[in-house]
Amino acid sequence: MSARNILVINCGSSSIKFALVNEAQTTFPLQGLAERLGSPEAVIHWQFGDVKETLSLPGADHQVALGEILPLAQEAAGGRLSGIGHRVVHGGEHFTDARLIDESVIEGIRTSAQLAPLHNPAHLIGIAATMSLFPDLPQVSVFDTAFHQTMPPHAYRYAVPEFLYKEHGVRRYGFHGTSHRYVSKRAAEMAGLPVEDSAWLSAHLGNGCSTCAIVNGESRDTSMGLTPLEGLVMGTRSGDVDPNLHSYLERTLGWTIEQVDRMLNNDSGLKGLSGLSNDMRTLSEACLSGHPGAVLAFEVFCYRLAKSLAGMACALPRLNGLIFTGGIGENSAAVRERTVEHLKLFGFQLDAEANARCTRGLAGEIQAAGSPRVIVVPTNEERQIALDTLALLDA
Ligand code: AMP
Repeated sequence: MSARNILVINCGSSSIKFALVNEAQTTFPLQGLAERLGSPEAVIHWQFGDVKETLSLPGADHQVALGEILPLAQEAAGGRLSGIGHRVVHGGEHFTDARLIDESVIEGIRTSAQLAPLHNPAHLIGIAATMSLFPDLPQVSVFDTAFHQTMPPHAYRYAVPEFLYKEHGVRRYGFHGTSHRYVSKRAAEMAGLPVEDSAWLSAHLGNGCSTCAIVNGESRDTSMGLTPLEGLVMGTRSGDVDPNLHSYLERTLGWTIEQVDRMLNNDSGLKGLSGLSNDMRTLSEACLSGHPGAVLAFEVFCYRLAKSLAGMACALPRLNGLIFTGGIGENSAAVRERTVEHLKLFGFQLDAEANARCTRGLAGEIQAAGSPRVIVVPTNEERQIALDTLALLDA
């Protein structure tokens, strides 16, 4: 049987990220981004092999953009596309693993939309479009929340009245599950351990950031909660604040809930602390010239990350290692170094040379002799979604 091809699609409210994954190749034959959909500036950028292309599609919506993307994917797959894998942000408590899409799955995603009002409706538009364009192709949804459905109640419940959980789904769900699952499997492979008998702390650090405690291939706790705002300091998201901040700002500044939400999601995190940028690269450079805001943002980011990892350790019976992934985790030796300095109590220590070497997609162990493992693992959510899709096609 020749190697199969899966098209992986991630629909946002005005964008579609896509990649063609071939099960036998490490790089994607085709990948791209449709953005500013629904506006006069709608455009698709893609790379097919070494060739980069752009197609301007003024006013195009998701359906029109997918109408361009699907034939491109078929061409890149030599006409042998085996299926489509959709990333879906929120599966609520309905979905504990990937699912072949049918009416009941669509209904489950719709029911969970209340918990992810920006994301799930966009995923549904993408699913409807690909199903109408390619009705005969199997389609699978892979949920960001599904991996964390193994958390025990003491990790996922908030200390609020029970009816809010029972009747309104108020609990911790967690996100980045596809990434934490992928990197913990890779870390186990790299360490020569069976994933089903291993225990990891994982830090996914991109624009969104989260930590996870993973035991025998299952999530036992994670830092994000009901929404992806809880937990760590992120690019523009505050992470944890005192929940009374809402009422304080309402009383003192007359802010509405919407204003507080916007501030916490879009104007906080690295951007809010530094007053300079949400981008860790920019901040790392500014730190070198002593920019006080950048230095503060960097320090708060690393301290809060270490504090979260130390808390996650409560969920582990033992520890095989600490994993860094995501744009910052894979590239910033400075963030890894500073974070690990706060975790001395766990015996962690880095090898400076190995730490400096692991950037730009290079995986490796970076701990000093005698320290528990610290592993840099480039994440690959697209490949994990394709693997889940193929596993369902085989089942
Ligand atoms: P992601 O969302 O996974 O693409 O990650 C985006 C984040 O990774 C941004 O904050 C980038 O600044 C950060 N990043 C990428 N490369 C580097 C680097 N060399 N040093 C520090 N941060 C980086």
